[in-house]
Amino acid sequence: MTGGSRGIGKAIVCRLAEAGANVAFVYQSNQEAASKIACDITALGQVAWAMKADVSKKNEADSVVEQILEKWSKIDILVNNAGIIRDKPILTMSVEEWQQVIDTNLTSVFNFCQAVVRPMMSARYGRIVNMSSVSADFSNPGQANYAASKAGIEGFSRCMAVEYAKRGITVNCVAPGFIETDMTMAVVNLAGEKIKAAIPVKRLGKPEDVSNAVMFFVGEEASYVTGQVLKVDGGLTLGGMGWTNFSWVDANIGTLIVFVMNENSSDAVVFRGILGFG
Ligand code: NAP
Repeated sequence: MTGGSRGIGKAIVCRLAEAGANVAFVYQSNQEAASKIACDITALGQVAWAMKADVSKKNEADSVVEQILEKWSKIDILVNNAGIIRDKPILTMSVEEWQQVIDTNLTSVFNFCQAVVRPMMSARYGRIVNMSSVSADFSNPGQANYAASKAGIEGFSRCMAVEYAKRGITVNCVAPGFIETDMTMAVVNLAGEKIKAAIPVKRLGKPEDVSNAVMFFVGEEASYVTGQVLKVDGGLTLGGMGWTNFSWVDANIGTLIVFVMNENSSDAVVFRGILGFG
């Protein structure tokens, strides 16, 4: 499980451990949060192992998988959840901001999937769930790097699903909408009520809403389901009364990003120009 120290990943780690899995989870920098999760889960008599690694680095992903196989001899489930945002208009997005998002969100999925596929093939069993986003096909200005990474994850997952279906390995994606975590905190603080109003179910998502979907894909009930994307977005992307039909969004998601960035920065000025206001 990658990105297990906070937010959606933390909820998934807890659910998998509750269900009886020995869970190894990767974090990058927040050692305190990761250790606390591992301790809390261990105190409940379940098994969790926090492992520090940068998921974007192939050698680190390989080393994580090797250590797990050494300790537990097999890996039944892989959840690729680690992800970041670096929102900027394309005009001013640096190569580093592009590459960091692609490497962390998309290349990491290749890194871990490749590392686990051989042992899963030998076991003739594997459940892989990759964390996409509604941004894969419903994109906001300022998220070209993020949207590309998530659309890439969905394409990669479909391809992997057909390559390894006959080996007993399923590969699916979960695509969350607006979930309350550190990643969305700044925007939610600014416009939580407006965002809720644009979501048909009239609430923001919780990490547990996403972990429920992951648990479906890794369970026996989903053994005939592969190459699919399940949106967990409260109806956000359905249109109707929601986001896509909401004129506020066109003007205001950009505004939000401008505010989150720093209203006076050069990026904010570019954004206002692109969006045709201010
Ligand atoms: P979050 O609260 O920001 O947590 C991100 C997690 O990823 C943390 O555990 C972080 O570790 C880990 N991580 C980041 N870069 C890493 C790297 N290079 N190597 C290893 N671990 C790394 O994010 P979240 O909101 O829970 O999002 C989880 C996933 O859901 C992401 O893929 C995100 O794109 C997707 N998603 C989220 C939303 C949403 O509304 N929140 C919506 C759609 C999709 P540290 O704690 O060590 O930094």
